[in-house]
Amino acid sequence: DLAQRMSERAVDVVKYFMKQGQMMKPGDLIDADTAELVATDFGHTVKRVAESDIEGAMFKVEDKPENMEPRPPVVTIMGHVDHGKTSLLDAIRHAKVAAGEAGGITQHIGAYQVDKDGHLITFLDTPGHEAFTAMRARGAQATDIAVLVVAADDSVMPQTIESINHAKAAGVPIIVAINKIDKPSANAQKVRTELLRHEVFVESMGGEVLDVEVSATKGTGIDKLLEAIILQAEVLDLKADPDRTAEGVVIEARLDKGRGPVATVLVQTGTLIPGDIIVVGNEWGRVRALIDDQGDSVETAGPSMPVEVLGLQGVPRAGDTFGTTETEAKAREISEYRQRLAREKAVAKHAGQRGSLEQMMSQLQTVGVKEFPLIIKGDVQGSVEAIAIALEKLGTDEVRARIVHSGAGAITESDISLAETSGAAIIGFNVRANPQARQAAEQAGIEIRYYNVIYNLVDDVKQAMSGLLSPER
Ligand code: GDP
Repeated sequence: DLAQRMSERAVDVVKYFMKQGQMMKPGDLIDADTAELVATDFGHTVKRVAESDIEGAMFKVEDKPENMEPRPPVVTIMGHVDHGKTSLLDAIRHAKVAAGEAGGITQHIGAYQVDKDGHLITFLDTPGHEAFTAMRARGAQATDIAVLVVAADDSVMPQTIESINHAKAAGVPIIVAINKIDKPSANAQKVRTELLRHEVFVESMGGEVLDVEVSATKGTGIDKLLEAIILQAEVLDLKADPDRTAEGVVIEARLDKGRGPVATVLVQTGTLIPGDIIVVGNEWGRVRALIDDQGDSVETAGPSMPVEVLGLQGVPRAGDTFGTTETEAKAREISEYRQRLAREKAVAKHAGQRGSLEQMMSQLQTVGVKEFPLIIKGDVQGSVEAIAIALEKLGTDEVRARIVHSGAGAITESDISLAETSGAAIIGFNVRANPQARQAAEQAGIEIRYYNVIYNLVDDVKQAMSGLLSPER
């Protein structure tokens, strides 16, 4: 990279290092000081460009307090498999399409908006917490409210608990939709009671979490659910400034044969218009057209509105954030800079900079955190509980283990993304990670520790925790 930027041959740069007694090959990393030295010795003038100089061309716009206006809430539907997430999303969409847009063919663009008595609500169309956590792992928080679907004939199940933990880790309020209420075996009360055990206290149980009984297939309770969402949104007092350049997040993106890269973005503040020059993650483009969830071309997209963006140069990733720049040159520069950074990161990761339990502890220490976040997966619920109790006993006034999530079963991708967002270490007791999870962990640089003796597990955590207390490293 350095050779290329100096218009020199890579082999000459390698030779230069060799003369200094250093064996280097293309792709190896050098620090900025060394790079400067090399460039100077090759007779080039070096101008140091700070990240802030490049990135600073974006996001310099801020929300103006006097321009702040209410914006629609953005809702994600989560819950256990087969509890009715997809059915509920369809029911909500159909209830509204039938009433409004005559014969409108709805487009699946990854999100849609409904109008309930003049209040707009945005639904993210990918059910489940995978999309939710993938976004959070990239630092984007798109969701304001999580609707937790629990089937009344099945009650609280493992992914229900996972969803609760994901929402809690993100600080997103939950509304409980007790689904399949039409079934003879439905028992809504059991759902409410079981939720208590996971610290979700619905109103009738003396808590503040709203709950609504629905039947996604019969369409009952949908209006009530929408009302609950509006109520919750009012409490949250969601606002944005529509009178500025847009910022937001990618919900999904793909390469379309006819239209090129297509990204569905959620505008989070400001207003996006055709002609805007945007930088999206590592990509950039000039907005050629904006398409809404009805498949119609629109001239503007304001806060909380999902739209498909055409005109990008490449395909960004879900969870990437976007912002605007004034010129195409600036957008290209930022995108090239970020692509280079991403390459360097990949190389560095390849060089084996893996996070270990100990490294994590010292990182926690430097930021002054005295809680040790953990995710525990075990073969049976009983052993998981025993481990949790043993670890909680280790806690002192100064440091304690915080169990972000625990459960029986293999370590999955969902555990990895939760670990990524909550900074937790993962512990497997008599269970392994599935191949996808292993790959995800490797990519994210997250270490998974396996044990089959509780004593060893507790002892390791104890040692790591005492490391957190020691003053040096
Ligand atoms: P998901 O995996 O959470 O997205 O669940 P689906 O929406 O695919 O629903 C799983 C199954 O439950 C499907 O066969 C649905 O028809 C059924 N189902 C969903 N909601 C209801 C409901 O309110 N009542 C009844 N009786 N069945 C439902």
